[in-house]
Amino acid sequence: MAQAASASASVATTVADAATDLDPAAIRRDFPLLVAHPELIYLDSAATAQKPQAVLDALLDFYTHHNANVHRGAYTLAADATLAYEAARGRIARFVGARDAAEVVFTRGTTEALNLVAGAWGPANVSAGDTIVVTEMEHHSNLVPWHLLAARTGCRLRVVPITPDGRLDLDGLDALVDETVKLISVVHISNAVGTVNPVADIVAAARRVGAKVLLDAAQSVPHRKVDVAALGVDFLAASGHKMLGPMGIGFLWARASILADMPPWQGGGEMIRRVTPTDSTYADPPQRFEAGTPSVADAVALAAAADYLDRLGLDACAAHDASLVAYALERLGDAPGVRIAGPLDAPSRCGSVAFTVDGVHAHDLATLLDGDGLCVRAGHHCTMPLHTRLGLAATARASFQVYNGTADIDALVAGIARARGVFGV
Ligand code: PLP
Repeated sequence: MAQAASASASVATTVADAATDLDPAAIRRDFPLLVAHPELIYLDSAATAQKPQAVLDALLDFYTHHNANVHRGAYTLAADATLAYEAARGRIARFVGARDAAEVVFTRGTTEALNLVAGAWGPANVSAGDTIVVTEMEHHSNLVPWHLLAARTGCRLRVVPITPDGRLDLDGLDALVDETVKLISVVHISNAVGTVNPVADIVAAARRVGAKVLLDAAQSVPHRKVDVAALGVDFLAASGHKMLGPMGIGFLWARASILADMPPWQGGGEMIRRVTPTDSTYADPPQRFEAGTPSVADAVALAAAADYLDRLGLDACAAHDASLVAYALERLGDAPGVRIAGPLDAPSRCGSVAFTVDGVHAHDLATLLDGDGLCVRAGHHCTMPLHTRLGLAATARASFQVYNGTADIDALVAGIARARGVFGV
């Protein structure tokens, strides 16, 4: 059914896809799950992206030829595993423009990276009377760690509000960011409404009072070149699985000087210098923040994902995404009963379009679309404050990656029309 809808819109598809350098039909062939399930129209990459063969190969190659624990073996296999793991760290450092591989700490994902900052940097740098600034647009993983820090230290949270069209309302930022502010922790690109936030303005406000800036880059790193030096932030958190890599691996980048002063977060093997029964001293960063056996194969495969994205070219990926977002805004904007959440101009957003359909609950819509082979997410997308502010209980969200083309959006629009028919609206 969805395939038929795609075919009927093939003219528009050809025109819009030709606007970018990427060929989503060819790219789709790099993704075993999409090859095995040709009927699937996967529009949920903001939740997790599909994995190219190169990433699966890297996992298999590590476990087939290099598997040993890292940093502790005197034998060749263990030395190889260590080299592969540290090469992956260097690869991710280059991917985000870091000066030094030691500024990259591997974590399980964005959530763990944010908790690391809140759990280790937080208590050492924030106390009662201090303030952390967040925004109403944050994913829960960039709110709850700060709630926990506030409960632990007595610091306060201030919240940058959003406008009715889902942008940060920065009018009151200067008043909000006073001398008590120690950190502004903000999402780069909203996972819910796709808004691209003005990082430079936020960094400028923080610098005026000597505060640090943490960027939640979970949704930007998969789509565009993210350069920590150019952005001027102090911390950056991201997830591997959203940038075509494996689940269970991600990273925190932080300035070397900040990591050097940060106390450990979790204790265990690998992160120590010397241990007695009653005391311990700690390794230098990044090992200080990687207690226990790391996800070595996943880190190596994450580096393969970075290679894959760089081979496509991140500028080409960004241009492809921009054309899909513009096309989705246009098609969904014209679709009867559909209301788009977030900015309506394509350049202000990236990666996804969230919407509601009059008379059809987002969960019912997602279930009906599933019958057409369409995978979209429904709910609050871990952004309850944003949904509350916009007066929405739930939205449906279509999110894109390099394997999506405009035919997928045509199929979505046709599926929405069918769903409205089912509900008689
Ligand atoms: N921040 C944003 C903006 C996200 O979109 C997500 C996941 O959807 C997260 C944080 C949490 O990422 P993870 O679940 O990979 O730790």
